[in-house]
This record gives sequence, structure tokens and C-alpha cells, in this order.
Amino acid sequence: MSIPFVDLKAQHMRLKSEIDRRVAAVMDHGRFILGPEVGEFEEALAEHCGATHAIGVSSGTDALLMAMMGEGIGAGDAVFVPSFTFTATAEVPLLLGATPVFVDVDGDDFNIDVDDLERRIEDVQAAGRLKPRAIVAVDLFGLPTDYDALAQVADRHGLFLLADAAQSYGGRTDAGRVGTLAPVTACSFFPAKPLGCYGDGGALLTDDAERAACYRSIRAHGKGGGKYDIVRVGLNARLDTIQAAILLAKLPSLDEEIAARQRLADLYDSRLGNMATTPARREGRLSAWAQYTIKVDDRDGVAARLNAAGVPTAVYYPRPLHLQPAYAPFGDGPGSLPRSEALCARVLSLPMHGYMQDETADRICTAVRDAVSRA
Ligand SMILES: *Cc1c(COP(=O)(O)O)cnc(C)c1O
Repeated sequence: MSIPFVDLKAQHMRLKSEIDRRVAAVMDHGRFILGPEVGEFEEALAEHCGATHAIGVSSGTDALLMAMMGEGIGAGDAVFVPSFTFTATAEVPLLLGATPVFVDVDGDDFNIDVDDLERRIEDVQAAGRLKPRAIVAVDLFGLPTDYDALAQVADRHGLFLLADAAQSYGGRTDAGRVGTLAPVTACSFFPAKPLGCYGDGGALLTDDAERAACYRSIRAHGKGGGKYDIVRVGLNARLDTIQAAILLAKLPSLDEEIAARQRLADLYDSRLGNMATTPARREGRLSAWAQYTIKVDDRDGVAARLNAAGVPTAVYYPRPLHLQPAYAPFGDGPGSLPRSEALCARVLSLPMHGYMQDETADRICTAVRDAVSRA
């Protein structure tokens, strides 16, 4: 039997009756755009994480875009982003005419390196060409980044701190849940994320009423009080009502699923820890385990042997953003961010979801040990 990388089918079978009921209700009432499920989901999400405001939007990428639009970020502004992340993180400032400044990551926990960040902010200040405006903190693979340290850097330099929590919703730290750890948090509900819908979807979370009102306006073409009263340049970036209905059916199981992911991560750690470098844990911070990512030598060989043994793997990410053709003009070329570059050659993500059977996990661990020992 083939092993799924993310088992969306097992989750669907478990939640099917509630999903069907919720979707059928939308079909019946017919309010497909900003129907009642959107508001209901926003309330449930805000309550779940403890944020004051949740705004449902069309995707994680649009959530990032709207957060930057809300701050008026544009031409001449520098936005500091890690290089080892998904493309959307760097794409968004460029869409607004701003300049991404790539920062190296911590080689152990994959998140932005605070010392390198500070250095790059000072470099931009010294060069005087761009105005430092924002830091995008990515909780890579689900692990909340060091928000205390980043908030200090942001305060010191007067920068907007935006959490890209596309992979980490459901994670938390001693200070609170993801969604409350930065002034603004962007989430994605892309199907394969820990909380996924059945299409594209996302949310913005904030305690700031003014920002929340601004995001509600941006997602509906920049409208003001009246429908045809346009007070800013906006987008068509609303969360779809059917997707909100699906998220309402899924949200109540999220914490349980994340606990199951955590148990699988613990099992992988104990079975693989002496064969490969397992993901770093951080005191007081719990990952949502969007991915379980090991580091191995001969990564491509190990992946090929696992594939032959029926174990799917993925490489997040094979190339750092500063070396992507589209973004290279904004970076300093090969060798400029050595940890990001080294990670791209060694990382390998294993199947991870909240519905894995023990015997499947055993099979994967045995296959990984075998594949690595033949490297
Ligand atoms: C998935 C992802 C996004 C984009 O989310 P979409 O909903 O697919 O637009 C942004 N940042 C990171 C780190 C992601 O993993």
C-alpha cells in the first residue's frame, strides 16, 4: 500500500459528515460571497488563538500582501525576509515595488537569524538607498520563530513585524498561540497546511482594530462605509464562503491533529536521531509540524532510495530565494547566505500528518534508516 505524504483522505473520511452538512448549508442559503460562515469562522479562529480580530482572506499570499499594503509599503522600502522559505515571502514586497533584503537563517531551526538580520538592517541604513520598513518572520515548517528577539530588533529600528504563519497556525509558545505573537499574523489554509481548506484560503490576525478595519476594506476593493465608496486601492481577496464552511468543520479537530503530529515527530526523533539530523526543538515553543525535516548527506540518493521503497519525501526548499532567477537581482549571489545555501542541499521532509498509523510510521523509519545507511 502506498504511503501518502499528507493524508488528506483520512481526515476527510473522519470529518465528512460535518463537512458535507456545512457545505450543503452554503448551497442552500446561496450567500457565496462573504456569507455567514465567513464571519462565524473568523470568530472561531480569533477565539481559538486568542487574537482580537480575524479577517478571512483568499490565500496566505494575499494575507501577506494585504498586511504590507496596510502599512503603505512600496517603492524605496526595504523588507527583510529569510532566504530559506517559500517564494511568496519575497514575492509580495516586489509586487508592491518594495525591495526584499534576504537574510540568512539559523542552520538548526531553519528560522531567520537575528544577528544576520541586525547586520543587514545596518547595511541598508549605511547604504542609504532604501528605507528599512518591515521584517517578515517565517515560522518555517511550523516552529514559531523567536518573536521576543525579533520584536526587540523591530522596535529598535522602527520596523513593522509581520508573522508569516502559513505553516505554523496551531503552534504556540509560552507567550501564547500563533496568531498572537506579532502585531499582525498571516495564515494560509492551502490544503496541505496544518489547517487546510479545499482550495485557497487564508487569514489575517491582529489585536489592532484599525488594522483589522483596513484589511476588511482592502479585501473588498478598498471600500469604505458604502458599497461604492472606495477609500483606498484594494483587492478582490475575500475568503470564499464554502472554504469558510469547510474550515469551520475542520478547526475543532486541529489541536488533536497537532498533538498527533507532535507524537509522530517524537517517534521520528527517537528512531532516526542517530542516523540523521532531526529538527531542532526550542524551549518554550511548540511546532505545528507542518513538515518534519531532517538533514542528511547524499540527500538526493536517500530520497531516491526512499521513493523506490514506497516512501514519499519532499525537498523544501531546493534553492534559496536569493539564488532564484526572479529574485537574484535583489540578492548578493552564491556564497552570500551560506547557511540557507547549505540547507538546500541537505534537507529532506518526511511524511507528516495527524492520521498516521503506527505500522506506517515504523515502515517509514525502517526505510529511512536503510536509505541513510546505504549513503
Ligand atoms: C504556503 C506558504 C505561503 C503562501 O500561502 P498560500 O495560501 O499558498 O498563498 C506563504 N508563506 C509560506 C512560508 C508558506 O509556506
